[in-house]
Amino acid sequence: MRGALGGPRVLLRRLREVMAEPVSAQERLDKIVMLIAANMVAEVCSVYVLRVDGTLELYATEGLNREAVHITVMRMDEGLVGLVASQANAINLPDAQSHPAYSYRPETGEEIYHSFLGVPILRAGNTLGVLVVQNRAHRTYSEEEVEALQTTSMVLAEMIASGELTALAQPGAEPAVHPRRHDTGVVLSEGIALGHVVLHEPRIVVENFIADDVQKEMKRLDDAIASLRADVDSLLERGEMADGGEHREVLEAYRMFAHDRGWLTRMREAVMSGLTAEAGVERVQSDTRARMLRQTDPYIRERLHDLDDLANRLMRQLMGIEHAPHKDQLPENAIVVARAMGPAALLDYDRKRLRGLVLEEGGPTSHVAIVARALGIAAVGQIENATGIAETGDPIIVDGIGGEVYIRPAPDIENAYAERARLRARKQAQYRALRDRPCVTKDGEQISLLINAGLLVDLPQIEESGAAGIGLFRTELQFMVATTMPRIGEQLALYRSVLDAAGKRPVTFRTLDIGGDKVLPYMRNVEEENPALGWRAIRLGLDRPGLMRGQVRALLRAASGRALKLMFPMVAAVEEFDQAKALVENELTHLRRHGHTLPERIEIGAMVEVPSLLFQLEELLPRVDFLSVGSNDLIQFFYAIDRGNTRVSDRFDPISAPALRAFRQIADSARKHKKPVTLCGELASKPIGALVLVAMGYRSLSLTPSAIGPVKALLLDLDTRKAAAMLAPLIDSPSGSVHVRKKVEEFAAAEGLVL
Ligand code: PEP
Ligand code: MG
Repeated sequence: MRGALGGPRVLLRRLREVMAEPVSAQERLDKIVMLIAANMVAEVCSVYVLRVDGTLELYATEGLNREAVHITVMRMDEGLVGLVASQANAINLPDAQSHPAYSYRPETGEEIYHSFLGVPILRAGNTLGVLVVQNRAHRTYSEEEVEALQTTSMVLAEMIASGELTALAQPGAEPAVHPRRHDTGVVLSEGIALGHVVLHEPRIVVENFIADDVQKEMKRLDDAIASLRADVDSLLERGEMADGGEHREVLEAYRMFAHDRGWLTRMREAVMSGLTAEAGVERVQSDTRARMLRQTDPYIRERLHDLDDLANRLMRQLMGIEHAPHKDQLPENAIVVARAMGPAALLDYDRKRLRGLVLEEGGPTSHVAIVARALGIAAVGQIENATGIAETGDPIIVDGIGGEVYIRPAPDIENAYAERARLRARKQAQYRALRDRPCVTKDGEQISLLINAGLLVDLPQIEESGAAGIGLFRTELQFMVATTMPRIGEQLALYRSVLDAAGKRPVTFRTLDIGGDKVLPYMRNVEEENPALGWRAIRLGLDRPGLMRGQVRALLRAASGRALKLMFPMVAAVEEFDQAKALVENELTHLRRHGHTLPERIEIGAMVEVPSLLFQLEELLPRVDFLSVGSNDLIQFFYAIDRGNTRVSDRFDPISAPALRAFRQIADSARKHKKPVTLCGELASKPIGALVLVAMGYRSLSLTPSAIGPVKALLLDLDTRKAAAMLAPLIDSPSGSVHVRKKVEEFAAAEGLVL
């Protein structure tokens, strides 16, 4: 290699000696730039460090004017150094001064140097600074030299990350190693949590990154890759998902990358330049992460994520680290930070210590979000690079109301949130005090408050909330959080536990509501243009009766000798209900014939969540034992607004005359036919929603468990007759539609009701 005296390996060895010397931070940096310049036969070697204020400060130089050290400061959008930092990419130029981004700083005296090679100083994909070499001659640095400089920059990354340089900085201009961060994402689960970071995949800290014996390190790398390939192949062959719940496509991508020549070559080159095998993997991974953060194409980004995962596996293999060993030693107030996570992985954490969750990915309908809500922890998703920014043990705030995440928050932010959390806790205590009070309105109307549930972890909520039972048990959740299709025995066991936990209180099971946005990872996915209007829920159940039959059998057996209430989702026509009911009757006959004890009583109901049913109520009601209104879907189809699309989902208000007329019609028809009706959509979980529903005649509401307290508090103070008198003209008056919510709010305020 041209220029390099003794090559990068000698340089790395010398740097290791310098790192161990008991000298000051500045002296160490000065020696490092001197060594690099000498080794690379460069006239200049400089280190710029990224500061918390987002600028780059010259921390050491060999070759430029020493007086410029700690004086020259560049913005990220300034000069070639800024360009290297902002793009996190090497820049190699024979004539730097002719580059449009070149920016001359007179105090440095750099005008006589023409060639320029700058590389980012990266750690976990984050830019910590820039390392530059320059020469007078117009020359292009060789690929080996670029590689060598990048390898060398790892030493500086470690030095900056260790905090050693902070002592050299002015207050407010410290190296940006652990800056405060405030990011906004999307709410996955409501709540406010203050705690400390637990990285779901603890960052692997490479301590020994300079190789003693390059051949040995090369062999370690090759062996690890071979065993990684074997692992991925066997996962694919077994057809199972790995511990992280990866899906088949992901594993296929893993396999592709595990055999990708480019990736392997880059890691081998890094090891050839003198790094240990694990440091070589980290070098390449850090570049990958840096590219990932700048990538906007979702497909490429996803693939870079896969590559990042694979590198993690490789590192664990090389360092003999087990997967996620920390789950038993969770700190108090743990806030788990992960890129993505399967629902089962979240359930593995100690519930008593887990307070919050932050994900780089994840939407509100993701399975992990469902579990987070069931666990009652605050969760926020779509926080870019959260795992690269947060360090284990860092203080962190998850605001699952506004969707904010603060990593290493400022004291005033922390105080404000601690106060909010205290207020919420006080409110919760007030609600707990209402737990055993029967829910009777001021004018003596009994309202049955039930909870929505779907997982074992939900069951303690029946007792804790003081609910009258479970008004909606979403059976698909067990299927959604599993990695393989739950067997009938597993379904039976869950349903039995649910009935046991509920005791004398009623439970309404809903048969599988899959399809649409409720995707099962292990079931072949049918591509549909409009999945919400597609092959889902009862449609799928009737077309593939095997699945539904098995489930109905499990339900009937779980309820042997007890009462069973079951209902079907997404019924759009009376005939569908008839067919589904016939299926239940067939199963009953089957069980009877085989000598099973049958349920003591069975009630079969339909969910009203497709508007077509509004025009079949007269035919439907005589056939059903009860109705349950799914306002989430009913509103979605009523107003034609995708419930998962935030651009339109709030466009129309369910508290508006047209929608309330629909809800009222259902309640009126059910009363006429003397059939009970419950409303189990989100509308009932909002105090204002509960108010209007009760005012329209609903006497049974099924809520998110955390809503029981606030809704009960409101209903205890509500005069239903007054509310009905206020609401009726608003629903009937044709001009009133836009003002309904406002008028209801005014009514609540006048009545002293807390919405
Ligand atoms: C609804 O649609 O209102 C409902 C309760 O069902 P889900 O939210 O599970 O679709
Ligand atoms: Mg629904």
